Amino acid sequence: MSTERIQAALRDATDTNDVIIAAGALSSVSEVFNRTLGEFPAVVVADENTYKVAGEEVHRRLTAAGRNVVDPYVFPGRPTLRAEYGNITTLAAWLRTHDAIPVAVASGTLNDIVKRAAHECGRPYLAVATAASVDGYTSFGASITKDGFKQTLTCPAPRAVVADLDVLTAAPAIMTASGYGDLLGKVPAGADWIVADELGVDPIDPHVWDLVQGPLRAATARPAELAAGDRDAMLALVEGLMMSGLAMQVSGSSRPASGAEHYFSHLWELEGLAHGVDGGPPPEHGLKVGFGSIAVAAFYERLLQRDLGEIDVDDRRAAWPSWAEVEQAVRATHKTPGLDKAAVEQSRAKYIDADQLAERLTLVRDRWPALRERIRQQLLSADQLRDQLRAAGAPTSPSELGLRLDDLKATYVRARMIRSRYTALDLAHEAGVLEEIVEELFAPGGYWAQAAT
Ligand SMILES: [Zn+2]
Repeated sequence: MSTERIQAALRDATDTNDVIIAAGALSSVSEVFNRTLGEFPAVVVADENTYKVAGEEVHRRLTAAGRNVVDPYVFPGRPTLRAEYGNITTLAAWLRTHDAIPVAVASGTLNDIVKRAAHECGRPYLAVATAASVDGYTSFGASITKDGFKQTLTCPAPRAVVADLDVLTAAPAIMTASGYGDLLGKVPAGADWIVADELGVDPIDPHVWDLVQGPLRAATARPAELAAGDRDAMLALVEGLMMSGLAMQVSGSSRPASGAEHYFSHLWELEGLAHGVDGGPPPEHGLKVGFGSIAVAAFYERLLQRDLGEIDVDDRRAAWPSWAEVEQAVRATHKTPGLDKAAVEQSRAKYIDADQLAERLTLVRDRWPALRERIRQQLLSADQLRDQLRAAGAPTSPSELGLRLDDLKATYVRARMIRSRYTALDLAHEAGVLEEIVEELFAPGGYWAQAAT
């Protein structure tokens, strides 16, 4: 059974026909496959870990139902599978040796690899979730590093998702903490969308907004219970994550689910800045997003203290750089191969000239009281986010992520350049307060100066 909320979202979803969230849901996998994909042959794709916890059972149930089943494809359990394009090429080549429809028994990265590989072979797929670690199960697109740059490669979402609460609660605690971080990130992501909406850059679709933000507060309200393995808290988290993915399907964009906190995470990932501690694997996506959410919330707190109704528009217009100057600055800031080129393209896509800047800042001046109020309604403080993440068992300090304070500081300016999406960082940049807010955050008395002591 899926919840009423999920059912409502599925009616508008373009790719996914069913999402089953229940204890013991693995037992329904063959029936779900039949109902959503038909009589085709099936093949389980897993890694050594996920095969053990659920893949074996899924394979057995598909076989027992009398279906034509190809022997499973199992990636090694170690080292941790990376979201790199080469893995997709390998899997797609193997899938082409038969005509079976893949059943990904996986969490975030492997699910994305199967999602894209299936698409490259012109096949749909079914996802069996092994951890509540990301919102990517129900979203289209695969977050993959290709040509040195983290990109969302197009591909449809799975035809159906099976999420067994018994499997999810037994998953490593850090995976659940990651899902919690990815979901809590919708708080600042929502604030960024409000900014873009109020300024007419990216209007909010109220229906899509409700899909994500509607269940969000309840789904993130009980981090300690979640960490303790509470079944209801897990159900709420999984539902929130699935709703977020479905919202992306309905809107055809990741805007409902990601803002600056995700660009912080992407930058750290691409440059290996958050590398984990004690030689362990790099931190899970949602752990970086959760920490990025604290960073963005701290930034918002300083931004909201300012009166952008007082901006001197002519002053800003006179100081506004040409595209050639911006391009030079982006190239000087981003030298990682692949990312350098992408950052120029993304920055170019959102560059506005001096006249457009004057127009936008005039709007900011007029709308600031209303905008500030809307953001305040949406946001949680950096301290609140930190406390909730900590209760969920997620890292909340730079050192826990293996992130240097200097790199964190530089991220505020650098992350803005790697994605064309308009966020609070762009508003601050255009208003001429980005750098000074960042300085304040790291100066004595600033959020990160305190956090580091
Ligand atoms: Zn995410």
